[in-house]
Amino acid sequence: MRTPSNGRAVVIGASLAGLLAARALHESFEEVVVLDRDATLPERPETRRGVPQSGQVHGLLARGRQELDVLFEGLSPELIGLGAPTCDVQDEMEWWVDGRPLAKGPCGMIGLAVSRPLLEFAIRRRVAALPNVEIRPDHAVTGLVTTPDGDRVTGVVALSAGEETTLGHVDLVVDASGRGSRARHWLSRLGYPAVEEQRIEIQLTYASRRYRRDPGQLDGRYGTAIASYPGKLRGGFVLAQENNTWITSVSGWFGAVPPTDEAGMIEWAEQLDSPDVATIMRTSEPLDEGSLKMRYPASTRFRYDRIDRFPAGFLVTGDAMCSFNPIYGQGMTVAALEATILGRLLKDGTDDLAARFFGETATVLDVPWTTVMANDLRFPDAIGDRSMLDPERGAYLLRLRAAAADDPELARAFLRVTQLIDPPAALFAPSIASRVPA
Ligand SMILES: Cc1cc2nc3c(=O)[nH]c(=O)nc-3n(C[C@H](O)[C@H](O)[C@H](O)COP(=O)(O)OP(=O)(O)OC[C@H]3O[C@@H](n4cnc5c(N)ncnc54)[C@H](O)[C@@H]3O)c2cc1C
Repeated sequence: MRTPSNGRAVVIGASLAGLLAARALHESFEEVVVLDRDATLPERPETRRGVPQSGQVHGLLARGRQELDVLFEGLSPELIGLGAPTCDVQDEMEWWVDGRPLAKGPCGMIGLAVSRPLLEFAIRRRVAALPNVEIRPDHAVTGLVTTPDGDRVTGVVALSAGEETTLGHVDLVVDASGRGSRARHWLSRLGYPAVEEQRIEIQLTYASRRYRRDPGQLDGRYGTAIASYPGKLRGGFVLAQENNTWITSVSGWFGAVPPTDEAGMIEWAEQLDSPDVATIMRTSEPLDEGSLKMRYPASTRFRYDRIDRFPAGFLVTGDAMCSFNPIYGQGMTVAALEATILGRLLKDGTDDLAARFFGETATVLDVPWTTVMANDLRFPDAIGDRSMLDPERGAYLLRLRAAAADDPELARAFLRVTQLIDPPAALFAPSIASRVPA
């Protein structure tokens, strides 16, 4: 570990993006304080109020696992030791795309099937053990403290035990407070220009429920993801998790809301392209009282990289900067990529940090954001800017996905891109394009 050259950093939010940012900061700051508005943070893997999505199905992409294992040496073995199953992402999972399952075959990408509460718990434990990091629950940040000219952020104001408290003498504040981030509002009150918002409205609703798992179910496979597509506004997911459990989820787009009662959920799941979700629901012992419903109105991306004036000593990361339609499972992986960038940039000091951080992360965000845009804007009811869509490229990818139902090589190439291992350009390489029917 290097000698920290900066004083104190504060992170707003102790969910995944905040914890990963703290991991990146701890090598460059003498003291890192992570604040969360939740009154307590669980001492076991449990869902919690401040992360309402934590009870919903969460898949960790292969790239996310790679990044996390670099940030926290030995994390995967630790999670496997805690019961998280691993599997070949292509051969031992089923992926339904545009109404067909991708061809199977070993792809060498080994996925880690871990629940969101366990992953956050394990990472929180690692971060809390770092000697110069302190995690303080019951601190709801309500504003920024700045120099009189507003050019530099020097602290935060928070509500704790009902009292307003100020944390000052801070060299860097990182906002990782998720989709409800107030950063834009704080900046506007300080006289900074409005931050451009990109938005893709999908009015998605998820309903998830856990069941006991017998490893022989689904012919020994570890899960099935059934994607929606134009004309089919229902999706579903069943995924193995630690402690011999399944998590199942059904979703509806554009206001199609899945029911949360058992019979209704099964009936909904029976209309999916694959019977797997309904089979698990019908044949397994439920572990939750009922199912948990959550609305997700829109993917949002705030273009901090395009703002021409920004205070020193302040950054925004995670869902607070960009939040993706959850069916693509990208959020946690992107948070890890952003933390990796932050850690690397800090090695060159904090000068001009915001411009460097937002510039580099924008390049990384372009890939998953473009995937979401290209897929979700195929739905006529999706609301968003279609001017960037390339119909020729869209038609090629449609043919590629159709052919991937019979061609394991194409399926593998497709999965390597959706798992954020390869760039999308890989799907246009001559060796792949030659397998796609004209
Ligand atoms: C239904 C659903 C399913 C998803 N599925 C997947 C998936 O399969 N794979 C995947 O990679 N991602 C998935 N995601 C996204 C994933 O949950 C997030 O990307 C990930 O949690 C990182 O988010 P975050 O840390 O930026 O914000 P959040 O997880 O939203 O956390 C924000 C944190 O900030 C705290 N906070 C908020 N306001 C304040 C404040 N004022 N002061 C102090 N603390 C505050 C909150 O208590 C919370 O701890 C899904 C999201 C949803 C909604």
